[in-house]
Amino acid sequence: MKSLLIIADGLGGRPTDYKGKTCLEAANTPNLDELARRGSTGLLDSIGPGVRPGSDTAHLSIFGYDPEKVYTGRGVFETLGIGMDVREGDISFRTNFATVDENFILRDRRAGRIQEGQEELEKALQGLKPSQPGVEVLFKTSTEHRGALILRGAELSDHITDADPHKTGVKVTEVKPTTTENSAEKTAEIVNELVKKSHEILKGLPINKEREREGKPPANILLLRGASMKPDVPSIEERYGVKGVAIAAGALYIGVARALGLEFKRAEGVTGRADSPIINKAKLAVRELKGEVDFTFVHMKGTDSCAHDHDAEGKIAFIEKIDEVIKYFLDNLDWDETNVAFTGDHTTPIVYGDHVSDPVPIVFAGPNVVPDEVDEFNERSVLRGGIGRISGQILPILLGYSNRLKKFGT
Ligand code: ZN
Ligand code: ZN
Repeated sequence: MKSLLIIADGLGGRPTDYKGKTCLEAANTPNLDELARRGSTGLLDSIGPGVRPGSDTAHLSIFGYDPEKVYTGRGVFETLGIGMDVREGDISFRTNFATVDENFILRDRRAGRIQEGQEELEKALQGLKPSQPGVEVLFKTSTEHRGALILRGAELSDHITDADPHKTGVKVTEVKPTTTENSAEKTAEIVNELVKKSHEILKGLPINKEREREGKPPANILLLRGASMKPDVPSIEERYGVKGVAIAAGALYIGVARALGLEFKRAEGVTGRADSPIINKAKLAVRELKGEVDFTFVHMKGTDSCAHDHDAEGKIAFIEKIDEVIKYFLDNLDWDETNVAFTGDHTTPIVYGDHVSDPVPIVFAGPNVVPDEVDEFNERSVLRGGIGRISGQILPILLGYSNRLKKFGT
């Protein structure tokens, strides 16, 4: 049997979201309600009760991996997510182009969310090299001010702090080792040198001269953060014996999926933003599940982005778009052969505008799931559901319904 896991990022909400209702309650969702009617519902603490999840750690836990043990940091999901080749021993970083003055005081963390010139900036930074011999630098831009960087060489460490002070008006932070190992000290030194050199390379570029003339903040420094090595984990195929694909648009989610050995497939035209044609993800997932794969993971981001922007109406509208995706699955999946889980990776309430530890509603449906009596899908209705309140482990539970788990004992 096949398994489909659908995650709406930051799906959960609070009664303060919109006129006494959560966004999920306020949205018109006949198809999610139908899924709830067919299936069994409950609440999910993606990592555990009282833990405020990041999206990366939440996904690891949902896939059945203990983030406390395996999480190495965000950088590696970024490098994998934008398609860089990450090898054992590599140190990955997220980067952002930023603006500093001549004294390295940070003026804009995102260089005015620079929209153009990524190619020119990327090309210029191919000349970024540390004075330490035997250390290679690989750099790639992604969207706007974002990018990723890999340090490759012997005896490097990810036990170092960030170069990004996360606020303006202060000096770019000096990177420090967080352990006493020589490798951490050496890596911190290299990163500090690269940040300084990036300013030398970038400040005189024509694109930055042009931006200064237009009164825009120049992209005149590269800040590195989130140093991490590839997590040392068995792939989903090694662990559960299933072949899986991931359908997502955001680099972080593609990166997490790749770190766990899932094959990434891009649906047509998707952007990862609230205006993304997410219905194409459903179409691709149905096609994939008709083929060789045992398991498909579909990720949609808009719910979380709208909630970070305190935009209740945007989140409600995106949930209604997700409802169309669910309709496509209701109409087109082989329901005799497929078990489905739909949930969020955490709650992102509108007022707070960031992830909180409140649990999110979840539904399992399929031929092997005993339905409960819940016939609506939201934070309140699922309190009466058959799943109760569970922590992480959604993929193994789903694969259990699909008869894909190995027995523990005899
Ligand atoms: Zn998330
Ligand atoms: Zn978020």
